[in-house]
Amino acid sequence: MSDTRHTRLLIIGSGPAGCTAGIYAARAMLEPILVQGGEPGGQLTITTEVENWPGDTEIQGPDLMARMEAHTRATGCRVMGDIIASLDLSKRPFTARGDSGTTYTCDAVVLATGARARWLGLPSEEMFKGFGVSACATCDGFFYRGQEIVVIGGGNTAVEEALFLTNFASGITLIHRRNELRAEKVLQQRLLNHEKIKPMWFHEVDEIIGSDMPPGVEAVRVKHTKTGKITEIPCKGVFVAIGHTPASDLVIDQVETHRGGYVVTRPGTTQTSVPGVFAAGDITDHIYRQAVTSAGMGCMAALDAERFLAEDACAL
Ligand code: FAD
Ligand code: NAP
Repeated sequence: MSDTRHTRLLIIGSGPAGCTAGIYAARAMLEPILVQGGEPGGQLTITTEVENWPGDTEIQGPDLMARMEAHTRATGCRVMGDIIASLDLSKRPFTARGDSGTTYTCDAVVLATGARARWLGLPSEEMFKGFGVSACATCDGFFYRGQEIVVIGGGNTAVEEALFLTNFASGITLIHRRNELRAEKVLQQRLLNHEKIKPMWFHEVDEIIGSDMPPGVEAVRVKHTKTGKITEIPCKGVFVAIGHTPASDLVIDQVETHRGGYVVTRPGTTQTSVPGVFAAGDITDHIYRQAVTSAGMGCMAALDAERFLAEDACAL
């Protein structure tokens, strides 16, 4: 059955940015509604240890996000298990339609839809997704016990995925297109000292090779970025960890974006190009992309929205 709910502030996303916006907005008596989306808790729910969240020397990502959700609910923020399928920012109140059939109307909105995994774009990668090709070691690592695995990328995610996969794999080859990692130094050190991990510098994946019956990966073909020399690496699992793309599809034609879809905000604020629409976290941040910075921006977005709504009420 379809229903319509009005709120002064709609928050779209339940990662660190959305939850923090929910906590601040509820405490500002804005009676916000937060829509969780298809990944309740966001990206941290697909990782293991988080070691840089202040106050916790080490905490499991899913536990941290369960605590954030509980905190958000405890403040009185209404948390909806729904996915926003479309958002109309052309007139106020703004209108969002949920997959559940619920329509949400609101006076202001916080976009906190974060980011999603980037893929290589090879047809063979598409063919073997779910049959040996994955972008989530915590979800799928268990299936590769005692097998050879390839991890692609050179950032924090790739290094963490490779280290996590040592719990299962007989050996891991980390393929990186340069000879320098972007990952934090402490993670680099762990990776380079690990006996099960072999880095392969200056290589890019050319093709993922496998069988159709039953579907499964057997090797990756890689090319040296300088010499062009081709090498085949036998493996059963391929973990693509080459970064994330902002999840801004809902608003891509409605607010100003840059650098491949990151929502532009006015410097020092979370205000987007549309008055009353605020953006926080990985959807707007191409530089830091951390849980703590996302949470910080979630706080800013709620405070910016509160000010906007107060000024708006005065103008009426
Ligand atoms: P996200 O966490 O991406 O959450 C986005 C939310 O939006 C989700 O809840 C999703 O369901 C929702 N959503 C999306 N589309 C819709 C829609 N249409 N309708 C409704 N909701 C929607 N950072 C650290 O600081 N420390 C770490 O140790 C760390 N480890 C990481 C490990 C991995 C494997 C990854 C991938 C990232 C890691 N990060 C880490 C980065 C960190 O997870 C992100 O910076 C942070 O989660 C971004 O928060 P966010 O709230 O902006 O978005
Ligand atoms: P990232 O930092 O953007 O790194 C992406 C890596 O993939 C880079 O090494 C890049 O190579 C490589 N790459 C990109 N496109 C490629 C392609 N088409 N083919 C081959 N290689 C490609 O992404 P990330 O590692 O997912 O991290 C995203 C954000 O989340 C970062 O801000 C990171 O700090 C954060 N994060 C933090 C933690 C933590 O704090 N422990 C853990 C995970 C993620 P180049 O280096 O050559 O560009």
